[in-house]
Amino acid sequence: MNAENAKQATMSQAPPRFTGFDRLYVNGEWLQGAGDVLKDRDPYTWDVLFELAQASEEQVDLAYRSAARIQRGWAAAPPGARSEVLRRIVGVLDARRDEVISLLVQESGSTVLKAALEWFLVRTVALEASMLPYRVEGRILPCDVPGKESRAYRKPVGVVGVISPFNAPLQLAARSIFPAIAVGNAVVLKPSEETPVSGGLLLAKIFEEAGVPPGVLNVVVGDGPRIGNAVVTHPLARVISFTGSSQAGRVIATKAAQASVMKRVILELGGNAPFVVLKDADLDLAAKAAVWGKFAHQGQICMIANRFIVEAPVYEDFTHRFVELARALKVGDPKLPDTFVGPLINHTQLESVLGKIDGARKAGFRELLGGAPAGLVLPPHIFADVHATAAIAQEETFGPVAPILRANSEEEALAMANDTTYGLAACVFTRDGERGVRFAQNLECGMAHVNDQSINDLAFSPFGGEKNSGSGRFNGQWAVDAFTTEQGVTIQHDPRFYPMNMMELAAMMPPS
Ligand code: NAD
Repeated sequence: MNAENAKQATMSQAPPRFTGFDRLYVNGEWLQGAGDVLKDRDPYTWDVLFELAQASEEQVDLAYRSAARIQRGWAAAPPGARSEVLRRIVGVLDARRDEVISLLVQESGSTVLKAALEWFLVRTVALEASMLPYRVEGRILPCDVPGKESRAYRKPVGVVGVISPFNAPLQLAARSIFPAIAVGNAVVLKPSEETPVSGGLLLAKIFEEAGVPPGVLNVVVGDGPRIGNAVVTHPLARVISFTGSSQAGRVIATKAAQASVMKRVILELGGNAPFVVLKDADLDLAAKAAVWGKFAHQGQICMIANRFIVEAPVYEDFTHRFVELARALKVGDPKLPDTFVGPLINHTQLESVLGKIDGARKAGFRELLGGAPAGLVLPPHIFADVHATAAIAQEETFGPVAPILRANSEEEALAMANDTTYGLAACVFTRDGERGVRFAQNLECGMAHVNDQSINDLAFSPFGGEKNSGSGRFNGQWAVDAFTTEQGVTIQHDPRFYPMNMMELAAMMPPS
């Protein structure tokens, strides 16, 4: 077979593209939403891609009841059956790789590079989750009561509500859903209203094609405060897995505590990652990492380097290298294979980032790189000599803006790094790896990296934040813990003696 024939044969095997992204997915059926119509746009062209009616609160209820109906049977299936379903999902992801990437690019403004990495991460999460059914273990516990045996059974929580953000829509939904279903739960997903397809309905199509039983995954589309509220407060939800801003996370935690039936909340929230360059760092390595770790997905990643803290002796050298590399980045159409910085998600986000740039200019910080937006595409901005108390150093920017702060010592760099209400990711550069590890251990954050930028999500390492960046951990065994609960069950093998007076009780007690 020559190359052209091989290409044609491969093309003819490709499944027809998914269609019908205008409905909700409830109990394995495609349901017309009963709420207002949502216009889903391409952030680069601003064309309307899909129009779909949002869910009503009654439809959220229907989704929960469908999930609850199937959940016990799904949990009772052998681990191998659930594992097999996840491997079939991997198969669909492989067969539909290009389609998945193309939807991510169109709907979320991801560059092709970022979308391809996201596809790969989703595939990795599915593979990892396919092993989790075998990692749910109970325990037999020591017990002081004669004739009694005490056991702890680890069980799925039941129904999990997942609410996800726009920035890595497929991956951030998948990293909750795959482990949750692997260990025997059913799920109701509400994706971001900015990415209802790539963050939700696309997963439903993949599940349907993989033959996942109806009701195991239900997808309801709608805006945060209204439909999100119905998802959070529903009495059948046992765990709410929320990924999004710290502001929304605080509201959701409060609502979950006030709901008629309280629920466990996993919060994966905003970040303000410090990127620390100590004076003995390899500056070439640090500058290359800085460009990737700051401008990937135009700065819209929770773990993105949000501020740079550089020791004084290498400050100008590092800054110069960083600016020159950032200046060379290709900015514009995310569909082109060499674009590194594409559009922000929407006009509200652009206005918010422009407001931060304006504030930095008014404060008189040195603007070393900048430029005007074209549509929603904002070129990289770099400000030097930024004060630690400035808004761009204290707040999450979620855009391509890099503030650089000067530290006079390693101790001051550490204090500056921890001077934030956030605590998600961080990184430090030094030629002395163990010095870097000691520095990392003193950082108040969930994930720290030595000699690498801060965007790292490793399938078998704990993922999560401290302080306003959230609570709970994902990946590996942490994901099993997140989506299961332990039930204590005892069995009294021999009749138990019940003391009826103080003398009988005293006779049972150890001698004093
Ligand atoms: P967002 O908080 O605006 O929205 C996230 C989701 O929450 C959406 O589905 C939205 O509809 C829903 N929502 C909003 N208000 C709600 C409410 N009151 N009740 C119920 N649901 C509600 O966040 P976003 O703009 O989509 O995403 C960006 C934010 O997410 C950034 O702060 C980023 O750092 C954070 N994030 C965190 C992680 C992490 O793993 N820690 C990962 C990605 C993004």
